[in-house]
Amino acid sequence: MATVETVTGRIDAEQLGTTLIHEHLIYRDEAVASWWPHVGSMVPVDPPRACGPEELHGVAVESARAVVERGVKTICEPTGMFGGRDVAFSRRVSEETGLQVVPCTGIYTYEYLPMFFVTRDADAMADLFVHDIEQSIQGTGIKAAFLKCAADEPGVNENIEKVHRAVARASVRTGTPIMAHSRPASDTGPRQIEIFEQEGVNLSQVQIAHTGDTDDLGYIERLLEKGVYIGMDRYGLELHLPIERRNATVTALLERGYADRMFLSQDYCATLDWYPVEVAEQLLAAEAAKGWSMTLVFDEVIPALREAGMTHDQLETMMVENPKRWLGR
Ligand SMILES: [Zn+2]
Repeated sequence: MATVETVTGRIDAEQLGTTLIHEHLIYRDEAVASWWPHVGSMVPVDPPRACGPEELHGVAVESARAVVERGVKTICEPTGMFGGRDVAFSRRVSEETGLQVVPCTGIYTYEYLPMFFVTRDADAMADLFVHDIEQSIQGTGIKAAFLKCAADEPGVNENIEKVHRAVARASVRTGTPIMAHSRPASDTGPRQIEIFEQEGVNLSQVQIAHTGDTDDLGYIERLLEKGVYIGMDRYGLELHLPIERRNATVTALLERGYADRMFLSQDYCATLDWYPVEVAEQLLAAEAAKGWSMTLVFDEVIPALREAGMTHDQLETMMVENPKRWLGR
């Protein structure tokens, strides 16, 4: 029987149920949060507002409750190093709401690495990831269920390649699935997959996140031909691609038989420290995000996809079966 680690312990993969594959309960720079804990963060939408450190938990609980009300049983929380991963925080939210939360290990960077890692090789980095998978994350007793890495506008440069090889080696050593943040506009996906392939990763355990930021079906099918999953996972982030074009892409891929390779999610952050409130207001005024929340997929996307011909079985495959197959080990 395949199992999955969550912040409240190991469960049977069968117990995952309806799963949002990419949602953040908290997202903030961990160095800033550690140096200036009084600063807090921001609720990014409806409307953007400052959020003190004492409010972070309550805001995360609100998002968690909202998804539980839509029938969601589980979210994957893909916050890696530098994003302020806090599995004890996730565990408190999980215990309070009943939402199962699946944690990760890995590094979220587009370029920078601390000297600690610059002077060490990919195997040393992989050892630390394996520690989180086999031992425990930061002494909590919670274990990582998947590995996270990222490539963005700077491309797969030297440091990013090291993180990808480390994630790949940890995956090969432990059989743990990988979620790789990608940037289709910078054509990162093929190179990310190439590295995983060179390292001998089972590509059916790889998810190329944010593939839904493009509607270039040629690019997407080149990834799918390798046997990976793709994240159609940034619904609401209009700055990358508007919702209508995201839906048209998912519909076209469903028609081509790829229900068993896709995830629907929002990459929502209950709180996010990336912008001052006034910048977030300007971004919203410029329609950089529309309806962005942890429930947009249920409130607007699924009804529209149904209208466009998505079947009950296809939805079930994307929301229940794919998470089970990708995470279960
Ligand atoms: Zn994310």
